[in-house]
Amino acid sequence: MSTFALAGNQNSGKTTLFNLLTGSNQRVGNWPGVTVEKKEGKVLKLDGAKIVDLPGVYSLSPYTYEEVITRNFIVEGGADVVINIIDATNLERNLYLTLQLAELGKPMVVALNMMDELDKKGDLLNVEALEQLLGIPMVAISAKSGFGVDKLVRRVADVLKRKTLPNVGDICTGNVHEAIHAISHLVEGKACALSYPPKYAASKLFEGDQPMRDALKLTRDELHVITEIVEIAEHKMDLESDAALADARYTYIENVTSQCFVRRDPEGTPTITNKIDDILTNRFLALPLFAAIMGCVFWLTFGPIGTFLADGFAGFIDTGITAASDALTNAGASEWAHGLLIDGVLAGVGAVLGFLPVILMLFLCLSLLEDSGYMARAAYVLDRLLRRTGLSGRSVIPMIMGFGCSVPAVMSSRTMQNERDRRLTIFITPFMSCGAKVPIYAMFVAAFFENYRALVFFGIYLVGVIAAILSATVLTKTSSFAGFASPFIMELPPYRLPTIRSVLLLLAEKGKGFVQRAFSIIFIGSMLIWFLQTFNFGLKMVDSADSMLASIGNSIAWIFAPLGFGNWQAATSVLTGFTAKEAVVGTLAVIYDVSEDTLSSALAQNFTVASALSFLIFNLLCMPCIAALSAIRRELGSWRWTFAAVGYQTGVAWIFSFVVYNIALLITAIL
Ligand code: GDP
Ligand code: MG
Repeated sequence: MSTFALAGNQNSGKTTLFNLLTGSNQRVGNWPGVTVEKKEGKVLKLDGAKIVDLPGVYSLSPYTYEEVITRNFIVEGGADVVINIIDATNLERNLYLTLQLAELGKPMVVALNMMDELDKKGDLLNVEALEQLLGIPMVAISAKSGFGVDKLVRRVADVLKRKTLPNVGDICTGNVHEAIHAISHLVEGKACALSYPPKYAASKLFEGDQPMRDALKLTRDELHVITEIVEIAEHKMDLESDAALADARYTYIENVTSQCFVRRDPEGTPTITNKIDDILTNRFLALPLFAAIMGCVFWLTFGPIGTFLADGFAGFIDTGITAASDALTNAGASEWAHGLLIDGVLAGVGAVLGFLPVILMLFLCLSLLEDSGYMARAAYVLDRLLRRTGLSGRSVIPMIMGFGCSVPAVMSSRTMQNERDRRLTIFITPFMSCGAKVPIYAMFVAAFFENYRALVFFGIYLVGVIAAILSATVLTKTSSFAGFASPFIMELPPYRLPTIRSVLLLLAEKGKGFVQRAFSIIFIGSMLIWFLQTFNFGLKMVDSADSMLASIGNSIAWIFAPLGFGNWQAATSVLTGFTAKEAVVGTLAVIYDVSEDTLSSALAQNFTVASALSFLIFNLLCMPCIAALSAIRRELGSWRWTFAAVGYQTGVAWIFSFVVYNIALLITAIL
């Protein structure tokens, strides 16, 4: 089995190409940092070959975790051929990575992507000339349309067979060249023993790269000599060594591109993207426009359209359940079998499943915003605001992703370089209300706030954001999080029309996940809840108030008494919510035996406006579901920090609910 590694800048189209080559449907998004995990897949058109989608990087310096992973993977022989995918509309910047990849001395092919956009701009690129000048095989492609991809596969297969190595000329001249040459002589033996190309090792050492020093296990004397060489060169050039090397690379690239690339419009001519950005990121308009756009998302999802779809779908499910119930009665099913199936399984699963249209609408809106490139602007605009709270602008990306699901959101924090920022972001991302909590809000809104639908939804999301920002402000004043947020540099990708294919794929995937959870966790959970609330510990069928579930719920209900929902029903539903947030609704549907009544009227009888609000806020902010918990554990790296995070979240939830409950009590008393 041979392995190809896909390496390239963020947002250069790696995942799009990966999906095309492997037929899988990994998440594609028009903003940096979407792919954080290494993904693998079999190449469809080439037997016995697999491909690895590496995280996007701009260079191979050890500035981020991704950069170190990427270069180690390649240099340690993880790949037989490196496919370097390049955004051809951004040639100079992308070639910077290409030069560094070539230094690794592995067979490689460059895929010049986005050729369609290049053509549309009217720029001209002579691919053969570029190939000749750089000494690396190149193929022009468009990952979006599939143009050139077959040719790319043939070329890669050819390079694999011949083991063609990149043949880049000498990039550096003068002092840099001399210094690297000298260092390379010195460490040649050690580098070769690790099968690192000596010149690669030398240029890394010249840049002052710590991981390389550690890997080579340099002696004190060797380190001393290298420092001397670097210092002499720096002195002669009057420039830091890493800056000098970067400068040398860019000069080389400029020289190459000047011979094979012609821009139609002079650099600095405003593009369509620039024109749109003049409005969307305008100092004064940016925030109102962001609010308006998010308002539209809310209106579409939770307003008349979303409600109409959800009601229709719920009616459809109800009809199904009634039919099943009649069929069972006619077939002469025993009372407990009927109870288990109708009041247990179908009530729970049905209550959750009914929200599928709302969830899909939410994800549709979010993915359109993401794919078009708007979310990257939102992050950029919000950065200016958030900076004051001590948050890094980088946290905005995980936070916005958190509106979808905390699991990828927490994982995306991996692209953050600063450990403090990263941890802080993981602490607060789960406060952003995820899609799975929508059914909980929708249920209570139907029971209590039907006339203020969009407002209540908006308010809940806002409370989540406020909890996150407040937490950041407070936590950065305490010892473990003290310090400054690292600067936020994000490249704004051009606006792009979302592809129908990638949007549909995403919806299908989200829909599938939701339905799967309904039929696995919620299914089993509903059966269990029905069982626990139908029998007592002596396994005798009893009234639910004497059941096992009531005993369990009652033992923790006191925690919630000050929040206004200190009864066993609400307590157990909070508890089951830790398996998956949709389970809260499923549990309540089973407990309140909604076969005779609708869930919303059952809720209206068992909650007050104040306790309903407090219940919603608690579920919004408390510890996330198991899946998110394990993502947090993975990213924080220790159980101690994990417990600190979820303990913190649950504590904040309790305090917020307490405050909201008492304020709501006051207001309802006055009214
Ligand atoms: P990654 O971050 O490198 O994995 O990049 P993605 O595969 O997520 O793609 C980034 C954006 O570029 C998405 O909006 C894609 O739809 C878009 N894209 C990818 N390849 C092409 C292409 O060949 N032409 C055009 N016009 N857009 C592309
Ligand atoms: Mg990607």
